[in-house]
Amino acid sequence: IGMMQNITDRKLLELHLEHLAHLDDLTQLPNRRAGMNQLSQMLLQAENQQQPLCVGVIDIDHFKHINDQYGHPMGDEVIAGIAQLLRQHLRKSDFAFRMGGEEFVLLLPNTCIDEARQFEQALHARIHDFDWLGGYNLPQVTFSIGIACFPDDTQNKDQVLKLADNALYQAKENGRNRTCFALRED
Ligand code: GH3
Ligand code: MG
Ligand code: MG
Repeated sequence: IGMMQNITDRKLLELHLEHLAHLDDLTQLPNRRAGMNQLSQMLLQAENQQQPLCVGVIDIDHFKHINDQYGHPMGDEVIAGIAQLLRQHLRKSDFAFRMGGEEFVLLLPNTCIDEARQFEQALHARIHDFDWLGGYNLPQVTFSIGIACFPDDTQNKDQVLKLADNALYQAKENGRNRTCFALRED
């Protein structure tokens, strides 16, 4: 029975380590590797079930300025804060992960472009009254979003994230603190 216990403990430890390997330390969101796997799975599911999947890329605006002005630890707080905001705002079947730095990806299954628009508008609105961990005197933090929808914008699963990224670039170009939707690929 002692050996059985050891095997169980070891298995639990393995599961625990496996779990940690998929999480980002700072935000406790899934990391890039886990998120990209999830993206592939959800795209396949969307295709099989013939349901739309919206992919959003979020990037904090002028984040370098926040770091420079308030210090790197405060920058970290802002990243963690945005992650918390996302968690609070997600619906049950949605998925968010930290792509890296101050960039996040949202996966919204069974979501058409109109619904994604409502979602992002509500998310932008929420940041204004977000409680930044005990009310630090932070500047107004804003973010930009690029959204692409499978299969509406592209039927090529490998292109969805790229289209969302292009839309994000457009949102930055157009003045930040906004969302842009992918230009359709047709
Ligand atoms: P833009 O509005 O165009 O997105 O400008 P930006 O300043 O946000 O963009 P840029 O990509 O130039 O700067 C991102 C900065 O984020 C650079 C990098 O030092 C910082 N950064 C990346 N990861 C972390 C992190 O984990 N913590 C902190 N505090 N800073 C980070
Ligand atoms: Mg960035
Ligand atoms: Mg940025």
